[in-house]
Amino acid sequence: MREYSHSQLEKYETCPLQYKLVYVDRLKRYEEGVEAFLGIRFHEAMQFLYKERAFRVAPLEELLAYYEKRWAEKWHAAVRIRDEKRTPEEYRLNGRRYIENYYRRHHPFEEGNILGLERTIRFPLDEAGRYAFKGVIDRLMKAPDGAFEIHDYKAGGTLPEQAKFDADRQLAIYQVGVRKLWPEAGDREVRLIWHYVAFGMEMRSSRTPEQLEALKEETRLLIDRIEAEREFVPNESPLCGWCSYWDLCPLKKHLVKVEGLPENEWKNEPGVRIVDAYAERWRKRRDLEAEKEVVEKELEKLKEAAVAFAEKEGLRVIAGSEAKLRVTGKDKIVSPGKGTAEREALENALRELGVWEEVATLDPFALERALAEGRWPVETVGRIRAYVALEKRWAVTVKEEPAE
Ligand code: SF4
Repeated sequence: MREYSHSQLEKYETCPLQYKLVYVDRLKRYEEGVEAFLGIRFHEAMQFLYKERAFRVAPLEELLAYYEKRWAEKWHAAVRIRDEKRTPEEYRLNGRRYIENYYRRHHPFEEGNILGLERTIRFPLDEAGRYAFKGVIDRLMKAPDGAFEIHDYKAGGTLPEQAKFDADRQLAIYQVGVRKLWPEAGDREVRLIWHYVAFGMEMRSSRTPEQLEALKEETRLLIDRIEAEREFVPNESPLCGWCSYWDLCPLKKHLVKVEGLPENEWKNEPGVRIVDAYAERWRKRRDLEAEKEVVEKELEKLKEAAVAFAEKEGLRVIAGSEAKLRVTGKDKIVSPGKGTAEREALENALRELGVWEEVATLDPFALERALAEGRWPVETVGRIRAYVALEKRWAVTVKEEPAE
């Protein structure tokens, strides 16, 4: 089994296809988002600052000069800025501001002993060592009160709410590693600390031993799922905007292709022609369905009126000028809704009376959903898969927007 990291798991959860392209096919792309570029430069500056701290407190001007030097050395033409209104200069100045704020807030950096900077840790998530995990801790500290602290710098422009930190996997799983590698940490408090440098905010959280055990189990299950994965289905999300694999993604590659065509060829591209024809019929059907809905509502109202009239007049047939309406009533058994206490009581009664088998049937939709959502352990899914067949079902949906 391969060694996993938090970023790998996160990538898989965000988009299985992107995970495959990066970690299975190992297709390197040299494009880099400006946000990631800035984040790396900030991390470098922090590493410089805290490395020097073993000997002296580097002046702010020196730290900023180091940051500027690295920015200039590392900047390359493939750094992508998504927001067209922004310039590299603005991002560079943002980075400076983050460093200045951080420096002033933490000076003179006497926050305990530094145990590691950009420290790579490797550890298993189980006793047998099957589930190998690795991570890089931005800064590992021992605080003056003896607590261990796992620090992480975030240069992103969104500040998550506290609940996200309390449920965060990355630093919590690093805590598992720290406890494994430095047993002393097992007896002490471990603090998880995120520095959101764009906001000058420090977010904190902690985990109980029980929470760490549950996290290990959850992570092992996720790794099992990845190991058993064969399809690697793309998952569209706002993060697609930062993905460098559009030309290989079935959700994006046609957009890339038609975008590159000259104006006169574009409308005649076979895919564009199919979509235009389909969308035209789809709009027509949508209008007809809207009309049908109005008519259905009118019919429902007239049905109520007919039933009331028939009951009042003691009729089963009502005469019209060009048609007749037959009104028939039939009693129907209505079972309590799924998930209600009444439903549970009914099901128990049917079991006790020995007639459950006669009325219970497999719910294929519930089974399909459970398999698709990966709710069950791999072994369970393996056994069930032996009884079910896989059948490709196609769906075509229209998203109304001009293909730019
Ligand atoms: S473009 Fe989006 S859906 Fe396609 S591979 Fe990239 S992240 Fe996944």
